Amino acid sequence: MDKNILTQDIITKVQESVDIVDVISGYLPLSNKGKNFFGVCPFHSDHSPSMSVSREKQIYKCFACGASGNVFNFVMNYENTTFIDAVKILANKAGIPLNIKTSNYKEKSKLQVLYDIFDVTQKFYKNNINTKDGEKALEFIKNRKFDLSIIKDFELGLSLKEDDKLVNLLTKKGYNQNDMMRTGLVNKNERGLKDMYINRIMFPIHNLQGNLVGYSGRIFNGEKLNKYFNTKETEIFKKGEILYNYHRAKSAVKEHDQVIVVEGFFATIRLHTIGVDNVVATLGTAFTKNHASILKRMAKEIVLCFDGDNAGSDATNSCIKELEKVGVIPKIIRLEDNLDPDDYVLKYGKDRMLEKINNPMNIMDYKLNYYKKDKDLTNNQDLSKYVNDMIDELKLIDDDIYRELTLKKLSDISKLSVDILKKKLNDEEIVTKAPRYEKKEAKLSKYDLAERNILYYVLNSKDIYLKVIKENLKFNNQKYIDLILDLNNYLKEHDNLKISSLLTFYRDNMDMTNLLNDLIDLDLKDECSNTEINDYIKIIKERTNKKKMNSLKSNLKDATTTDEKTRLVEQMFKLRKKELEGENIYD
Ligand code: ATP
Ligand code: MN
Repeated sequence: MDKNILTQDIITKVQESVDIVDVISGYLPLSNKGKNFFGVCPFHSDHSPSMSVSREKQIYKCFACGASGNVFNFVMNYENTTFIDAVKILANKAGIPLNIKTSNYKEKSKLQVLYDIFDVTQKFYKNNINTKDGEKALEFIKNRKFDLSIIKDFELGLSLKEDDKLVNLLTKKGYNQNDMMRTGLVNKNERGLKDMYINRIMFPIHNLQGNLVGYSGRIFNGEKLNKYFNTKETEIFKKGEILYNYHRAKSAVKEHDQVIVVEGFFATIRLHTIGVDNVVATLGTAFTKNHASILKRMAKEIVLCFDGDNAGSDATNSCIKELEKVGVIPKIIRLEDNLDPDDYVLKYGKDRMLEKINNPMNIMDYKLNYYKKDKDLTNNQDLSKYVNDMIDELKLIDDDIYRELTLKKLSDISKLSVDILKKKLNDEEIVTKAPRYEKKEAKLSKYDLAERNILYYVLNSKDIYLKVIKENLKFNNQKYIDLILDLNNYLKEHDNLKISSLLTFYRDNMDMTNLLNDLIDLDLKDECSNTEINDYIKIIKERTNKKKMNSLKSNLKDATTTDEKTRLVEQMFKLRKKELEGENIYD
């Protein structure tokens, strides 16, 4: 597969040719206050100017919802596009011609071979389902009351009964064992390299950019095996970064400014057959804060439509929790009779499903219902528990009218007067009142603080970076250690350190991106004096020495021979002396 690849040079050139203030001004009005510019953040619903844009740092951040990034991130999030498209849009603005080159084999990134293998595999699986081998699979799909057109729409395929067909094909095409294993599609056992997927209907799974990165295979002959079998995590298949159907749903999501979240493949596909295409699925894996952020960027309205059973109800709750963490309040659809969306459409028909989709519950109505579950409200103890649960939820509502309306409903259900409920709410609130999406600043030790702050300055100054390297500073936080090590690579391609450019460098690395955004969020002052930097360094070294001292102490406790003990005590003395001299020693 030929991939259009933008060179790093071009990307840097584009980033340096545009000014983030000009670009964002093109989307929304910014006003200048002091060094920074401010505007109404487009990534959450708001009327006050909570987004600040720094010309100097070339980044934006929103104090209310935490959205932050560089100029590419802004365009990607605002336009809901891929990185490449954001580069194209900005290159166009800056008048830079992009002669996107078709890469040759040598230039291919180390991941490209994986995408190539998936390309071959997908053609193979897709072809199988339309051959004689695919008859049973087609029958299964028809029995499930699906039109065979879904095969094309969702690129479904078939893995074969024999356990070496894919391996043989890939071998013939010249791929080596190691690369095959890296895809998670084949596995080595005593008999050699074997296909992972045997006789299953194959659902291709794509990353957010629309690249095929994994599969889920479903049994269709009633075998006594796991119903679905997913590709394991690989270099390119990261479950926390994937929502099924994302790339197909994108345009419909944008059109409706709404995304519907379901649990499974057949729910997604069934909704497509009734004309609902703004759908993504969680695939039964843990729903993370990262998934929540992805959804938040997709659309204003997020609707959770999970299975109607208890598991679906639990999944709904954990999903709400993650979404709330990123400041999103979703709407909820609950389906009767424990049905999943697929069964629901089959049992009650398209119109009733559409009715549900067009009238999702707001979160408080959902909670009024949810906490009632398994309770008998004529029983005082249950009633009291129910009211308390709801009061806890009500405390979190900022909108007065919304709160009043919910109180009224709670009063109807509980048969307690609005006044009493209000009094209880107010009494408790005096103690617990806290803004809902307050940034959770964990209390950091002085050591953690020093590490974090110095890293912040490192990211904007090569001099400070070089100083940290020269001093051989030992960080405690593993992520910081990784980042510092990595900066060496970054500096091979860049003359200077700049956080806005690092965000581009790490665009495919979710961990680093998150770390950088957390650092941007810190709101430290722009410049840091030498004295301050030296203080940070001293504190970090202090911890290193402490750790060393502790390990010597514990070795001393375990030491058995006098020789060993003497040696350890000597080392402790030396360490103490150096410490007093303000230096540190390492192994
Ligand atoms: P079907 O209607 O064929 O049973 P479904 O999509 O309704 O499929 P569920 O059992 O509701 O399946 O599960 C929801 C989703 O969770 C599935 O679509 C799949 O992504 C995932 N899943 C279910 N079972 C497994 C499993 N054994 N291993 C991995 N993923 C699974
Ligand atoms: Mn189902």
